[in-house]
Amino acid sequence: MTSATQPVPSQAAPDAKTLAAEILSCLTYRIGKDPTVATQYDWLSATIKVVRDRLIEKWIASTKKAYEEQSKRVYYLSLEFLIGRLMRDAISNLRLMDEVKNALSSLGVDFDIIAALEPDAALGNGGLGRLAACFMESMATVDIPAHGYGIRYANGMFRQEISDGWQVELPETWLDHGNPWEFERRERSIEIGFGGMVEAVPGSDGRRMAWKPQERVLAVAYDTPVAGWRAKRVNTLRLWTAMSVDPILLDRFNAGDHVGALSESTQAETLTRVLYPADATPAGQELRLRQEYFFSAASLRDILDRHLHEYPDLTSLPDKAAIQLNDTHPAVAVLELMRLLVDVHDFEFDAAWDIVRRTFCYTNHTLLPEALESWPVPLFERLLPRHMQLVYAINAKLLLDARRENSFDDGQISAISLIDENGERRVRMGNLAFVGSHSVNGVSALHTELMKKTVFADLHRLYPRRINNKTNGITPRRWLQQCDPGLFSLVRRTIGDSVLDDIDALSGLNAHADDPGFQEAFAEVKRANKEHLAKLVRERMGIDLDPSALFDIQVKRIHEYKRQLLNIVETVALYDQMRSHPEKDWVPRVKLLAGKAAPTYHNAKLIIKLANDLARTVNNDPSVRGLLKVVFVPNYNVSLAEVLVPAADLSEQISTAGMEASGTGNMKFALNGALTIGTLDGANIEIREHVGAENIVIFGLTAEEVAERRRNGYNPRELIERSPELSQALAAIASGVFSPDDRDRYAGLVGGLYEHDWFMVAADFDSYAAAQRDIDDLWLRPRDWYAKAIRNTANMGWFSSDRTIRQYASEIWKVPYSSVQGN
Ligand SMILES: *Cc1c(COP(=O)(O)O)cnc(C)c1O
Repeated sequence: MTSATQPVPSQAAPDAKTLAAEILSCLTYRIGKDPTVATQYDWLSATIKVVRDRLIEKWIASTKKAYEEQSKRVYYLSLEFLIGRLMRDAISNLRLMDEVKNALSSLGVDFDIIAALEPDAALGNGGLGRLAACFMESMATVDIPAHGYGIRYANGMFRQEISDGWQVELPETWLDHGNPWEFERRERSIEIGFGGMVEAVPGSDGRRMAWKPQERVLAVAYDTPVAGWRAKRVNTLRLWTAMSVDPILLDRFNAGDHVGALSESTQAETLTRVLYPADATPAGQELRLRQEYFFSAASLRDILDRHLHEYPDLTSLPDKAAIQLNDTHPAVAVLELMRLLVDVHDFEFDAAWDIVRRTFCYTNHTLLPEALESWPVPLFERLLPRHMQLVYAINAKLLLDARRENSFDDGQISAISLIDENGERRVRMGNLAFVGSHSVNGVSALHTELMKKTVFADLHRLYPRRINNKTNGITPRRWLQQCDPGLFSLVRRTIGDSVLDDIDALSGLNAHADDPGFQEAFAEVKRANKEHLAKLVRERMGIDLDPSALFDIQVKRIHEYKRQLLNIVETVALYDQMRSHPEKDWVPRVKLLAGKAAPTYHNAKLIIKLANDLARTVNNDPSVRGLLKVVFVPNYNVSLAEVLVPAADLSEQISTAGMEASGTGNMKFALNGALTIGTLDGANIEIREHVGAENIVIFGLTAEEVAERRRNGYNPRELIERSPELSQALAAIASGVFSPDDRDRYAGLVGGLYEHDWFMVAADFDSYAAAQRDIDDLWLRPRDWYAKAIRNTANMGWFSSDRTIRQYASEIWKVPYSSVQGN
């Protein structure tokens, strides 16, 4: 990195006056606008650029320090980063919030207005991508030199509109007004090949191979600085964009083919145009494999170049670099590193394999068999012929070892093979990531145990020390300090400012949980957050919500295993009860749902339609007297989550036990003082351990009981017929009570519950409904309710992603880290 020759902001914390002058100067000289004609977007860009300037010195210093100290670096490879907005995060981590607000107001600009204009960077689908974003912030916070690598999708996650109750997908164009956060690094462009053939290197007796790709595209780097708490360290998120090697084919242009001259360029750019919007199901298309290889190969080249800039050769790579694979999407990097070591850097196969395994680590995110990535052998071979050869070579070594040294039988051999031979032959990316890494981690205690027993049972027998657990976390800066400023300031007033640098200090709130004065203050904050959400719902949807009602929220991707249907069917049952027994003392409830369905996931889209059909019916029925409202809030994303999470009284975490790897939504809600109603699944189990069994509402089958029922034959029809509430609710839905315009709309959905009910809605319905009535009873005892809510906030510090990252650092990456958040 060259030292800056232009003036840099002084290290002293700037006051509002200095910042106002910097913003004005940026507007004038870098954006080229006069304040009288500047749009709100111009003010936003100028503010972001000034904030970014304050990060640059620390950024350069962080890079320099890692270089001088020859620190081991962490590389986090992820096809998704669900970032959300960055401005508030960066300003807050710089501790400049008041100064920036005052600077803007002295210029006649409202901070909240421009903050709301910042696009929500949605380069991810859900939990996996949001985890990567939380990890980036935490790695900077705990002072680990780390780089995130991913793709700069021109169109991120689609924007969801609801039209006549149905989900409609619209392109999200987050780059329309440019992206003031990023630095384009044209000089950092790397050629990536596809297709072609493999030839033996002349004179090598067929022992050395060279890949001659047929197509080439350029990967161009865009860097975004990521500041940790107090901006002690600033790390880099490097996202790749595809460009054609020859932007314009001059011979064709000169021959008069003006469109054809640009076709290659259009084709190259298609590579990074869209994020695949499928969550927990692999997108099996060729373009997806191209995306995976493109970003993995570009990132690896970058990593090796950096290493070779500092060290003489690649033998020391595992001592100086840890590469973490976020799920199997970047698993092809294992093969690419093999190829570079063997074909380019002249390593022997075994030596190269040793380096690969000591460098990579893999995080598994799902056990759903249908969600495990694999690629048809012919496709893989056509696109990556040299990598296919390496798959076979690695596989031969793996299977020979297993048979000779561990006497694996045929069944075990076929389970660990990198090639799936059942039906069409496919390359198994999970097995590849497993054997190519020295660490394979699950994301909650239960998930990790199930990994050992299910997907990786045989690989675990072969490598019994490789699987380990790292329970997910969330950054408390975004998910408490910034999204819930009212609660955070109450916390600081109550237990002091140590919580700024030590989230575990939250436990000091336990001492105040039964204090009526503190409970009242806590309830007031919750009330204000609910009013804020009610305002958003009124403005966006024209629906009035009563902030004194119990706000019951389920927001996450729409997926059958997450069981939004269980929630909706129970709401129908409650609606029936309210109408049959108007004399009872019903607790006023607002049911809020939000989430996106994969565009091709039929049942998920039908569940959204059902939620909206139910909402229309219930919200317009005078006989419920406003005691029940149902709202499906469109376009769930990080920014919407930041409004919903602080406003929840009740958090719905009701997946079929054994199917949710961890969940992080569950952590956000509990941290912000919602009670959880949930199954014993994913991190819910550990949340129960931390907040105490009396402060969480658990219902339903355990993962073991679910597995047992699956083994012994499960008969949902019988269960449904035995439960009058459930059969009534299902009959109403199936007969078209909520869909008078199309009475059969839900016949198939309900039929599926009677026939197979893969997700065991029927098995858990009665215990879920009973748990909801317990919740009602508790709500009528506000002192008990708030004591529990406070104990949730008090005991959720452990779920900070700082804790998760420190565990990765000490147990997997073997890198030093800071044990305090701030200085
Ligand atoms: C946290 C988060 C998720 C993950 O939620 P789960 O309930 O764990 O599935 C998904 N999307 C967004 C926008 C989030 O902020």
